[in-house]
Formats: sequence, C-alpha cells, structure tokens
Amino acid sequence: MPDLATIGAALSSLKTASEIVKFLRESDLSLERAELKLKLADLVSALADARIDLVEVQESLAAKDKKIAELEEAFDCKDAMVRRYDAYYVADPDGQPTGIPFCLRCWETDHKKRQLVLSSKDRHMRVCTSCGHQYGNSRVEDL
Ligand SMILES: [Zn+2]
Repeated sequence: MPDLATIGAALSSLKTASEIVKFLRESDLSLERAELKLKLADLVSALADARIDLVEVQESLAAKDKKIAELEEAFDCKDAMVRRYDAYYVADPDGQPTGIPFCLRCWETDHKKRQLVLSSKDRHMRVCTSCGHQYGNSRVEDL
C-alpha cells in the first residue's frame, strides 16, 4: 500500500529532474552531444519514476475515498439497523426489525448491508450475496 514514503520517492524523483533541467540550462552549449543525451535520459527516467509513484498515490487515495464512503454509509445507518436472531434488519419507527434480512457477518465485520437470499441448493437455507455465508432460513426470515 503506497504511503508517505511513496510520496517522498515521487518528490525525490521530481527534485532530481529539476536539478537536471537546471544543470542543462546553466551549461549553455558547452556540453558534448553524448553528455547531453545522457542527461536527457536521466531526466526522462526521473520523470517516469515520479509518474509511477504518483499513480500509486492516486490509486491509494481513490481506495481511501471508497472506504470512507462505505464507512460513512455504515455510520449513517448504524442506528437504523437492528439484530434479530442471526440477521440484521432495518428498524421501523418503533425500533423493531422489519423487511428483508441482511448478513450478520458482513454487517458486523465489514459494516456492509448485504441481502440474504434463498439458497438455490437448499430451500431451508439463505445465503449472503456477498460473502456466501449460509444461514438457517428460520433464523433469518423476512419480517
Ligand atoms: Zn455476508
């Protein structure tokens, strides 16, 4: 997982690139062609390293945004969910469970509302659409 060290590496690469550009600008036309090519190759390499590091940081930030959105959603409906036997349900205005059952494991572990559906293999079982955990139908029925 990219972190502050990745940002540091990207900044270091950009600093190197800046120093190469500064060197080239200050060296007027006295550089040999071969030396100029070498410096340009170093410059391209430093910029490519910085780009790779920044892509990692971008992906990391996107993943964190997604996680924050999930946690905000879970937080918003924290009080609206109540447990009954082996499932969670939306609470009615009186705080009583109502409607369709949601996976106990997914709610308590990942803070995600995942519906339980009837198993296609066993009509006495319900299965989570996300984690696949199975529940006895009598303990997670529709209300
Ligand atoms: Zn689940």
